[in-house]
Amino acid sequence: MINYGIAVHGGAGTIPRSDLTPAREQAYRLGLEDALKRGHAILKEGGSSLDAVEAAVRVLEDCPHFNAGKGSVFNADGQHEMDASIMEGHTLRAGAVAGVNNVRNPVGLARLVMDKSPHVLISGMGAFEFAHQEKVLLEDDQYFFDQFRYDQWMKTKGTDQYQLDHSDGEHKFGTVGAVALDQHGHLAGATSTGGMTNKRFQRIGDSPLIGAGTYANDSTCAISCTGHGESFIRAVAAYDVSALMEYKGLSLQEAVRVVVHDKLPLLDGDGGLIAIDRNGNIVLDFNCSGMYRGQCGSDGVVKSAIFR
Ligand code: ASP
Repeated sequence: MINYGIAVHGGAGTIPRSDLTPAREQAYRLGLEDALKRGHAILKEGGSSLDAVEAAVRVLEDCPHFNAGKGSVFNADGQHEMDASIMEGHTLRAGAVAGVNNVRNPVGLARLVMDKSPHVLISGMGAFEFAHQEKVLLEDDQYFFDQFRYDQWMKTKGTDQYQLDHSDGEHKFGTVGAVALDQHGHLAGATSTGGMTNKRFQRIGDSPLIGAGTYANDSTCAISCTGHGESFIRAVAAYDVSALMEYKGLSLQEAVRVVVHDKLPLLDGDGGLIAIDRNGNIVLDFNCSGMYRGQCGSDGVVKSAIFR
């Protein structure tokens, strides 16, 4: 039997340890651990890594502490515009949605784009129409409301500033993601986010872009990123980890190190990523002070962490 495993993240950022009460820390960890357990149960039963990453990300989308699904940040119009993507490593199939409103689980919609449409990425009203067609669960605006996110938005509302969830001194982070290897040796990755607070012009970050925020290829690794989306897009960060393994023969750990610590900082790319290779090695790395993260391998031991 092959090694299998799953890793998740709930966003990277500068989290002053002093501001994180034990109760809050516990809430974040519980969210991460629930997601890991859900994904791990699927892998243990012989299910696919694709199903495992979707299930894990759904748990994180439903948890209001993370900036994805319920709890997504507010854009400049006071709305929640969400992005998500998913990719399967043995077929290189992928699906993604950008700028969707009112969809309870954007990662599930991304999966449907992959499974039931000829497209990879759909956006805005068109994606909403597709969600209707596929009868996915919709929620009213109130469902996505979170007082913390609202207060965060009030600080930038009416200005030209937009804010990475990370960069807020109040530190409730969040983009979420998962990567997994199943017992059949297949890899998959998924990412979901509400993007940046006060974003305008239908700004889209790295999370729904295959190769930037998410990538999976059975011959190398599966990756989900979190951080300053514009930099991750320019770095083609997720694909670059895979390419360094494929073309340069680097190990997963070394490839992640090069991207996170050598390349991204040159582009102001604060953030991090989670990665798993085809042997089940897991690397969770970041170039800022913390990243909500966790992992669980074939042994079923669930580990989560926030700081270095
Ligand atoms: N990467 C996301 C974006 O730029 C933000 C995040 O990771 O929190 O939309």
